[in-house]
Amino acid sequence: MRCPGCLHEDTKVVETRVLDDAMAIRRRRECPECGFRFSTKEQVEILNLKVKKRNGEFEPYSTEKIVRCVHIALEKRLKSEDRYKRLIAAIERDVQLTAKSDTIESSTIGDIVMKHLKKIDKVAYIRFASVYQDFEDLVEFQEEVEKLISKRHKKPR
Ligand SMILES: [Zn+2]
Repeated sequence: MRCPGCLHEDTKVVETRVLDDAMAIRRRRECPECGFRFSTKEQVEILNLKVKKRNGEFEPYSTEKIVRCVHIALEKRLKSEDRYKRLIAAIERDVQLTAKSDTIESSTIGDIVMKHLKKIDKVAYIRFASVYQDFEDLVEFQEEVEKLISKRHKKPR
């Protein structure tokens, strides 16, 4: 990496730190030419992914949107910040693996989010399903609610 001070071609990494549950890395660097010290941060990011909406329009993929949806669904249910971050990362990994070239359908993203929520929290899953506008099959949703209710009734008190 070039020195931002004197534009010398190479700088030395003096320290590498893993941040945010291994989702980011900070490197402290020093220029051997002018002695300038600075740091760089490497952050996990999904780049250049387009989302095809149901109406056929495209929009750039937004981590922010996923985070908001999952946050609403999991409100007051997932206490650990680490687990929350890991969930988002797992969702994004699946989004990337499922995307064909650089495009993914919004309903596919919804399915991926639901699959992950279902694994970790049934109530969050139902909540997400009920706010998720692209929910394909309302019958399936109803079945899930009924399953959840019957399970509660069977629980010994
Ligand atoms: Zn320099």
